[in-house]
Amino acid sequence: MRVHSLESLAALDGKGLRYGVFLAGCGLRCVYCHNPDTWSADAGTDMSPAELLSKIVRYKPYFRTDGGVTFSGGEPLLQADELCKLAELLKTEGIGYAVDTSGAVGLTDSVKRLLCGAQSVICDLKFPDAESFGRYTCGDFALVEGFLAFLSENDIPTWLRTVIVPGINDTEEWMERYAKTAKRLIPNAERYELLGFHTMGFFKYERLGIENPLASVRSLDKERLTELQSYINTLLK
Ligand code: SF4
Repeated sequence: MRVHSLESLAALDGKGLRYGVFLAGCGLRCVYCHNPDTWSADAGTDMSPAELLSKIVRYKPYFRTDGGVTFSGGEPLLQADELCKLAELLKTEGIGYAVDTSGAVGLTDSVKRLLCGAQSVICDLKFPDAESFGRYTCGDFALVEGFLAFLSENDIPTWLRTVIVPGINDTEEWMERYAKTAKRLIPNAERYELLGFHTMGFFKYERLGIENPLASVRSLDKERLTELQSYINTLLK
């Protein structure tokens, strides 16, 4: 499989201490992406599931019961066939995994198998409806709807996340739209976390020579993020 990068013992993206496997390749082109270096399917290096396992097992003592591996990217589910092989190997070692995804992928047999075996799925709800999703990404919102409905129907532990960008989706009205979609598609989501847009990935656009559509936008104010998080929490009760 094509691996963009590895990160040992990150405390983000799932419960407990996690080993992050960032897969290369993503076609979604979210307007606020801070990892454009992961877009190319050729980014990073080729690694077999067995090679990855040998790196991961060194950290097994740190995972305890709720930690494990997080598959992220890029869009990890574009490599679901290979990830299923790695998941099988992890299972033999008693190591769990979480999946961090956009949800804008087709429900192939491998994708379904991977989701059903995950400790949790962290799904970024990029935008709340077909119109806004089409305006700010290159993806198909119908895929996200099918994806979230699958997670809900199969009662897969799910965390929703949304990046809040100043001037795009940083209003109470947008929170109402996100909450409505979350309630409709996945009322059993365990949590809904808002993340503030930041400019730390801007240098990657410059380095790659890719136009940054939000080059003039500043990071989201922390107090505003807290206000919006409180508001959406109230809406989701
Ligand atoms: S899904 Fe993630 S990696 Fe892909 S474009 Fe969107 S933010 Fe970037």
